[in-house]
Formats: sequence, C-alpha cells, structure tokens
Amino acid sequence: MRLPWWTLTLHTGPVRRASSVPEGMLNFVPACSTADVQSLDLLQDFVSRSRCLFVITGAGLSTESGIPDYRSEGVGLYARTDRRPMQHAEFVRSAKSRQRYWARNFLGWPQFSSHQPNSAHKVLQQWEERGKLHWLVTQNVDALHSKAGQKRLTELHGCTHRVMCLGCGAISAREELQRRFISLNPDWRAQAGAVAPDGDVFLEDEQVLHFRVPSCDDCGGILKPEVTFFGDTVKKGTVHFVHERLTESDAVLVVGSSLQVYSGYRFLLAASDRKMPIAILNIGPTRADHLAELKVSGRCGEVLSVIHPL
Ligand SMILES: [Zn+2]
Repeated sequence: MRLPWWTLTLHTGPVRRASSVPEGMLNFVPACSTADVQSLDLLQDFVSRSRCLFVITGAGLSTESGIPDYRSEGVGLYARTDRRPMQHAEFVRSAKSRQRYWARNFLGWPQFSSHQPNSAHKVLQQWEERGKLHWLVTQNVDALHSKAGQKRLTELHGCTHRVMCLGCGAISAREELQRRFISLNPDWRAQAGAVAPDGDVFLEDEQVLHFRVPSCDDCGGILKPEVTFFGDTVKKGTVHFVHERLTESDAVLVVGSSLQVYSGYRFLLAASDRKMPIAILNIGPTRADHLAELKVSGRCGEVLSVIHPL
C-alpha cells in the first residue's frame, strides 16, 4: 500500500539521507519519456470500447500533485529517506509511537491537507460525469479524488482526512482533531522543528515528549487516522463491495500504481479470471503487467488529458 510521507514513523531515529531532489524543488514524479503516439492510440481505442470502465488508481497519480510515493526510483520515499511505514500493531500497542506519529502529523497537516487534485484526477471525474467511468477504486489516502468531485469512489485504504476511534468506532474530521491539538498544545508548534521544503518534519525526541495527544471525546478511546496501516487488512465488506462493482464493469484501467500490495492487486486477478480487458498506465513495471493487454508508460495527467471518453 502506498501512503503519503506523513503517515510514517521513525524506527531508527531522525536520520535523513541526502535527497537526490534539490531542496525547494517539489518534484516527486519519476523520470520518464513522453508516451509514444501508438500507445496513446491504443489507449484511446481501449477506453472507447468500454461502456462501463472500472478504474484503479495509486500513488503515481498524486505525485503530480506534489505528494511523494514510496517506491519510485530516485524520488520515492524509500529512495530518499530512512523512514518506513507505521505498522498497525505498533500504533495500537505503543503510546510513545502514537505520540511521535501525531506530533509529526500535526506539524505536516497544514501543508499536506492543502494539496490539490491535478489534471489526472479532473479527467477521471469528467469520465464519471460523462458516464464512461462506472467505479473508481483508489489506494490513495489523500482525498484528492473527492476534492476533484469524484462520487463513484471507494477509498480502499481509507482517508487521512478522517479520524476513527479504536474504542467506539466513531468517525470524525481530521480538521477537528487539528483544532484539539492546537488547544492542547498552544505553544508547542513554535518550539518544534522546522518543516523541510518537501513537507518532511524533523523532531527531537525531547520535543515529542511534550506533545499532548487527545483521546475520543465519547469513550476515551485511542484516535487513529481512518487509514489502513501496514499490517492491517481492508474490511471484508469493502472488498466485497468493490468486487461487485468490478463484476458490473466491462474493462479495467490501472492508473499510477505498481500494484505491489495485494489489497489492490486482487482486483486485477479477479478481472483476469473474468477475462476482462485490462490496460495499465504507469511509469515503471507493475505486478499485473502480465495480465494486461496494453501497458502505457507515461505521466498520468499528460496521458489522460489527451484521451477522450467517447
Ligand atoms: Zn470512542
């Protein structure tokens, strides 16, 4: 699963490797050449043939909005930093880990929550409006599809803009939690570390110790982003719902995902079992390349902008 940088935590201390991207340059899109004309024609043909398109998207779509992915060569988080994703069990078990997680999350939120949908998100929203797109499943947790107005949407791994209580299951807005953080920690932000140009946050252990984390207003339970962390699984009901939308569709288009995580990949396996045509638009190889009749390598926004939903 690909999550944005700020759902991560430090396990090995606040060490940052030198970035290959110059400071101040928000470029998280992997290097690639422009998609060739023949590929674009084939993709146009693929989209034109479908009456009921099922689309699955991943982090490659949001890099063009300035959100880094995990795995891309040179620019992904794994390549640039030593940080690794927060594990579900650790978040549940360790109050210290939660405190560190939320402290970073609090500082990064104003920038992270301000990211805007790019041309790829907008095109997919228009395809829905025109009746081309039957259902969109995203592995992203950045809310950019809903910001673009997408309605026929499943956020497979949840969304960072929502918070859930592990005690009573209540869902609340992340924005509301930000207000609670501010009132519980009135002077803390000024003393905390600087935010790097890419939104990364540097915090000393000492600073984290003084950060106060609220619990659920109703039951006193632990608050967690409504996001599937590593080591957790997607709800059965959600998976079932998406399988149903898939069976109503006539073709599958993958946009900006390497499909490395099974929770998304399983829908490609199901589509292949049903002999549905599959096309993939992504920079770099994906786990489902062998299942696809068409693979286009290119930037999502650039490519989708020239495809018509006829
Ligand atoms: Zn609760």
